[in-house]
Amino acid sequence: MQTSVDRRPGRVLVVEDEEGLADSVRYALESEGFEVVIAHTGLGGLEAAGASRPDLVLLDLMLPGMSGLDVCRQIRSSSDVPIIMLTAKDSEADKVSGLELGADDYMTKPFSMRELVARVRAHLRRVGRTGTVGGANEVLRGGPIEMDMDAHVVRLEGEEIELRPKEFDLLESLMRRKNRLSARHVLIDEVWGPSYFGDTKTLDVHIKRLRQKLEADSSNPRHIVTMRGLGYKFVDE
Ligand code: CA
Repeated sequence: MQTSVDRRPGRVLVVEDEEGLADSVRYALESEGFEVVIAHTGLGGLEAAGASRPDLVLLDLMLPGMSGLDVCRQIRSSSDVPIIMLTAKDSEADKVSGLELGADDYMTKPFSMRELVARVRAHLRRVGRTGTVGGANEVLRGGPIEMDMDAHVVRLEGEEIELRPKEFDLLESLMRRKNRLSARHVLIDEVWGPSYFGDTKTLDVHIKRLRQKLEADSSNPRHIVTMRGLGYKFVDE
């Protein structure tokens, strides 16, 4: 359950020279309870890896000075900490050399913050850190709606409801901020990624679909409420 906070979800070192991306990653992880340490250079990342003893490292491939691959090799020479490479290139060579040097996984930019958080959790779970506050399966509840995060199942008054992946991600973002404003740009960041430059109407279209699936009267929503000019709010009543 999400209530018993008996251990922190973990400390994540983010080595990334693009400050905007580093900030988005920090925000996404901190909102999930992770502790975040940021370094903007390879050398800074190596130092931070030694000093802050992270539970997981997110490591950009293209860094000024020392490359992400060199940082990866050096961290790996003294530690088994999970390393996820962040790369702008999608070529096989980069993937293979990153993984050969001891990286556990890679993500190609742009990625959604939701996907990033899911991968971080998965790797922490693999190495025996739960990656979830409390350690148990997490269930988000609000009004008649229940999200079982491990099973990836949504229920409305106990009945399973089928959601598309983005609808699921959007509902999760809204429910994690239950009774608080979910700003439009924050929702877009979390569900579609910080480098999403598509039509902002996409968000409204997905909200509409969620309402049709989850609200008793989708034209008078009680739970997924519009905050005019700001965003949306999941109201728990
Ligand atoms: Ca970079």
